[in-house]
Amino acid sequence: VWSNCLAFIKDNIQPQAYKTWFEPIDAVKLSGNALSIQVPSKFFYEWLEEHYVKILKVSLTKELGEDAKLVYVIKMENTYGNKQPFTEKIPSANRSALKSQDVDVPFNNKSPELRNPFIIPGIRNVKIESQLNPSYSFENFLEGDSNRLARNAGIAVANKPGGTSFNPLLIFGGVGLGKTHLAHAIGVDIKDKYPEKTVLYISAEKFTQQYIDSVKKNNRNDFIHFYQIIDVLIIDDVQFLSGKTGTQDVFFHIFNHLHQNGKQVILTSDKAPVDMQDIEQRLLSRFKWGLSAELQTPDFETRVSILKNKLYRDGVEMPEDIIEYVAKHIKTNVRELEGAIISLIAQSSFNKKEITISLAKDIVEKFVKNTKREVSIDYIQKVVSDYFQMDVNTLQSKTRKRHIVQARQLAMFFAKKYTKASLASIGSQIGQRDHATVLHACKTVDNLSSTDKQFRKYVEDLSKKLAL
Ligand code: ADP
Ligand code: MG
Repeated sequence: VWSNCLAFIKDNIQPQAYKTWFEPIDAVKLSGNALSIQVPSKFFYEWLEEHYVKILKVSLTKELGEDAKLVYVIKMENTYGNKQPFTEKIPSANRSALKSQDVDVPFNNKSPELRNPFIIPGIRNVKIESQLNPSYSFENFLEGDSNRLARNAGIAVANKPGGTSFNPLLIFGGVGLGKTHLAHAIGVDIKDKYPEKTVLYISAEKFTQQYIDSVKKNNRNDFIHFYQIIDVLIIDDVQFLSGKTGTQDVFFHIFNHLHQNGKQVILTSDKAPVDMQDIEQRLLSRFKWGLSAELQTPDFETRVSILKNKLYRDGVEMPEDIIEYVAKHIKTNVRELEGAIISLIAQSSFNKKEITISLAKDIVEKFVKNTKREVSIDYIQKVVSDYFQMDVNTLQSKTRKRHIVQARQLAMFFAKKYTKASLASIGSQIGQRDHATVLHACKTVDNLSSTDKQFRKYVEDLSKKLAL
């Protein structure tokens, strides 16, 4: 009924007005010819009555007949500081007879449906799967200086979801430092302590996809309602919302609703709010309302205890010096640390080799090499000369043979593209050339790859090889 009314109203008022005054309304209950709608505040209700009572009446009469009734349910925070929503029933028909204090009195004696403002007919029986991974627990999330604040804030939030000032709790940090793990751990712990609470973990990417689908299928409102009945919303990798204004809008709306009702929001991001780009200012300012806690790279001791815990859980024994060797050499992120130990175990059991320091060394070396952020100019020269089946000396030589010149120019081009080295430094490393030669090489590669098909294939093949 309400969505039909909304459709009618939407057609008859300004889009912005619709967005402001009608999208935040939830239909709560329909009994007989009385429709209950929930509005965010008393002010909201007054505004509606003042400005939109006519259109509300017309639309409702169309749906429910001449004696249609509209009941407002106002959400309010109680006066004790914690944000448990009260609801308030006001019959619209008697608006003129209504004294303002009637609205102010918290109305506690109401039907169970109305006590919980989030129960919407039709959605109430939907069971929401939390999408939590139980192995991502607090217990398995080892504490260290690098994560103490974030971990403890997470524990505080899990003890009292929505009841701390850490709302939202934003966990940020680089890849593989435990954001996803910690976000799950909070959810898992809340589910444990408060099984009746609706908890949802979702990646920002999936959230975006769902939103786009809902718009396509014309059920954006259902999408919003779905998110508004959640008690604890965990959104992973919010940096994904960068530049996606539609999704940011809808998230802003959902966020406000949840926050106003004392629901807990937990976010993760690869950057601090101040460094986030293409996220609307109003959203960023919301992110800062609660607590932003950073996950830093763990120190050596923490890396050792993470490894030990992992080995213990997997039932694998490993000599102390080997654990320390791995922890000492792999220091950028926990995912790599775990990856190295897993491949160490795999190698040793596959080849029936004992786990020795030298095996550990081999594996650590591979890991460190594969994960180097910036490829080196040496490496580029090697890849390019391998590709053209020549050796690096040939590539660097003074010869003017066309295919060698091309190989050399490609090496310069990729050095410019994939490293931070200056033109001069690239030139000096690739056969003692000057910066003008490098610049010329880059231009030539650009030109040739847009005119010469064979050459373009070289560029594509090499890009793939170098993009590791
Ligand atoms: P992110 O989401 O920040 O990229 P993840 O949460 O996916 O990182 O963590 C990567 C891996 O490292 C996971 O397997 C996670 O369990 C593990 N990990 C990260 N931090 C810790 C920690 N403090 N204790 C134990 N395991 C950790
Ligand atoms: Mg993650």
